[in-house]
Amino acid sequence: MDLFIITVIAFKMQLHRMQLPREVVVGNDTLPLLGEICKRLGFKKSALVVSGPDTKTIAGRKVIDLLSDKGMDVDYLIVNSSTLLEVYAVEDRIKESKPQIVLGVGGGTKIDVAKLSSTRQGIPFISVPTTASHDGIASPVAAVKGLNKPYSVMAESPMAIVADTDIIINSEYRFTASGCGDLISKFTSVRDWELAYKMKHEYYGEYAASLALMSARLVAKNVEIIKLDSEEGLRLVLEALISCGVAMSIAGSSKPCSGSEHLFSHSLDMIEPNGALHGEQCGVGAIIMAYLYDIDWKGIKETLEKVGAPTTAEELGVDPESVVKALVAACSIRPERFTILDVKKLDYGSAEKLAKVTGVIY
Ligand SMILES: [Zn+2]
Repeated sequence: MDLFIITVIAFKMQLHRMQLPREVVVGNDTLPLLGEICKRLGFKKSALVVSGPDTKTIAGRKVIDLLSDKGMDVDYLIVNSSTLLEVYAVEDRIKESKPQIVLGVGGGTKIDVAKLSSTRQGIPFISVPTTASHDGIASPVAAVKGLNKPYSVMAESPMAIVADTDIIINSEYRFTASGCGDLISKFTSVRDWELAYKMKHEYYGEYAASLALMSARLVAKNVEIIKLDSEEGLRLVLEALISCGVAMSIAGSSKPCSGSEHLFSHSLDMIEPNGALHGEQCGVGAIIMAYLYDIDWKGIKETLEKVGAPTTAEELGVDPESVVKALVAACSIRPERFTILDVKKLDYGSAEKLAKVTGVIY
């Protein structure tokens, strides 16, 4: 009888593996702590630093020097984009130099490549972001092109996140505004997750959902501080992005932070591969999906405008027709992810009307 009850509970609860970062350090002049952090985590011998050509100058070099000064054997590799080929290149280097730890130093793409390649090789990973452009800096998911899936895949959570605001503050403000777009999009992604729970009886975790929502509310509430491009605003955005990463770790999936607005962004990526930044596209997607949910889409739009993030196709630098096409195709990008788009089933005419009524296209 007892065994029967346990089996039922286990079935009903749908067990999840929660994998959380061990150390999260946000603030000014935090990069010099990296050597100590590696030591504390038990990595004293060797490391592989993955960064981009520009980020190597910004922070990668410092990371190499810091770890070398601690007596570690440091190898490094420059990656240019987040493609599967780059992931293979990092994997080959891991097999060759057998580092204890991989450090991803850079914006979203470098971190995604480092995260996925280290996961595939069973090596822990530390995230050292140089921008605050999206929540991948702290999440267990990675977006890599060439996987035959235009969306993010599950990887391991970073073992540590070291976000030095002295470095990130020097990135273009556009990246931080894009991070706000990714954060504000949780207003609709959480709705989609709830909808999937109600209509498809999928697992839904209120704690993870609340954490994601709190991050979106934090941006809306502090928009006046964020737009000043000060350290205080940047820290707010970074902490909110890290909270979203943790929300995904707790949920064991990207669902709390990636719904219909993300599907729209992935769909737009396929139509206009050189479009805008991920967070910028998700922010615009959130305006549209909030309209479908009949929630405060105007408030979302206003927040994005105030923070200096795009709210129209023109500001995204994409063709208005591409927005309409992306909206129509979005629900087929990832069929297993149930969202409002599966309920509304947009055709070209209704998608065009939707983009117009929300002011995304004219
Ligand atoms: Zn995102």
